[in-house]
Amino acid sequence: MTQDKTADSGIENEVSKGNKFQKPKGVHDILPDTHEYFTFVKKVVRHRCRQSGFRRISTPIFEFTDVFKRSIGNDTDIVSKEMYTFQDRKGRSLTLKPEGTAGVVRSYIEHNMQLLPQPVELYYIEPHFRYDRPQKGRFRQFWQFGFEMIGESDPALDAQLIHLAHLINEDLGVAELFKLQINSIGCMKKECRPRYMTDLKNFYFGKERSLCENCKGRTEKNPLRLLDCKEEDCVILAGLAPTLKDYLCPECKEYHEQLLDLLKALDIEYVENPSLVRGLDYYTKTVFEFWDRETGAQNAIGGGGRYDGLVEIMGGQPTPAVGFAAGIERIVDNMKREHIQVPRKDNLHVFVAQLGYEAKKKCLKLIQKLRDVGIKTVGALGKASIKAQLHLADRFQAPYTIIMGITEVRDNTAIIRDMKRGSQKIVSYDKVLDEMKKLIGEESLDTYSPGEVVY
Ligand code: AMP
Repeated sequence: MTQDKTADSGIENEVSKGNKFQKPKGVHDILPDTHEYFTFVKKVVRHRCRQSGFRRISTPIFEFTDVFKRSIGNDTDIVSKEMYTFQDRKGRSLTLKPEGTAGVVRSYIEHNMQLLPQPVELYYIEPHFRYDRPQKGRFRQFWQFGFEMIGESDPALDAQLIHLAHLINEDLGVAELFKLQINSIGCMKKECRPRYMTDLKNFYFGKERSLCENCKGRTEKNPLRLLDCKEEDCVILAGLAPTLKDYLCPECKEYHEQLLDLLKALDIEYVENPSLVRGLDYYTKTVFEFWDRETGAQNAIGGGGRYDGLVEIMGGQPTPAVGFAAGIERIVDNMKREHIQVPRKDNLHVFVAQLGYEAKKKCLKLIQKLRDVGIKTVGALGKASIKAQLHLADRFQAPYTIIMGITEVRDNTAIIRDMKRGSQKIVSYDKVLDEMKKLIGEESLDTYSPGEVVY
């Protein structure tokens, strides 16, 4: 990195290395090999969500800043420190979405989805943005998939949602690495969470000096977060603090017990974790996360919970809901760590090499015909020698090369070369497609059909 200081801001120049640009800190390129994993994750998510009656939604990459402030809460880490907020040309404050639920709820209200059969079940696969401190598994742009069930409240819905997340983890081969942590943070009825908050604040009163810098400001603003701080002194104090479980109102208590019972019935292993609170204000009752069995919360792959008050806070009718989101980068990292192989769809079948203008013309047509029947084909249509083209075919790792030169044009033939064996045969031009299909095998063809559309 160049060490220039920008004259007016004094900020180190991170834009370029020499005269080459580099990506901003905390973001990453998803290169083709990793994209195969992303594609697989998305496929599994789409498949499982469709099976469960969820429909896909995409909300804008940016929303009015108040959408997040009002939903996530002003005193949360996300809103107070991590949002990418900017003004547009008319001075309106906009923010890149740091999470998915707020936008989905805004959309539910804006599009009158309460008129649809409830619960409305939606899923998304989207990039999100947080000005987080970059480190392993923590980026400033990252992908999440998530699902929301809006419009009904019952422990069976929470259980179903957790089950869906668990099934996806199983399909991706990472379920064994993570354990479900679950807690209830009660509801907003006076005798439930508010009563607990008063006692929690009283407990911390006078103990601020023993807390870490981050937690000092939390005693008044966001006392629940004091419970899940990982700093040693804060952990010790949190262990002595009153426990929310002892304050739950009878309804929340019964709700939680039922949920645990249903999870048992679904054979989902869980750990009751009284200090799990999640970082966003909108949760009520159920909260849960999938923690790495070895390293814990630090490398969680996903989490969620019930948010019965959020639709109303966002200006809609009182409407209960529950949701979940998982980080795709972290899932992919774990899949790679476990040496899980995903289907490789990008490997080529054929490389087409040619010599001479007439051969090039014929090859252009042939390449499209090959592709149309599902044979993944690349053609070297430049001016390189046949030798150089064959070398390129090797580098592309294509198992076969079709070669056409002046002789083949004249005889209406083509040469098919088996690159591994180094053997080759001459076939009539009209038979090339059939011959290639035979060699590659019907099951390996990458056929594509737009399906039954009505034009
Ligand atoms: P959260 O709603 O913050 O618990 O996020 C849900 C999941 O998204 C987490 O468990 C992570 O897998 C993922 N995630 C959250 N923030 C980031 C980040 N900055 N970089 C990468 N993944 C993240």
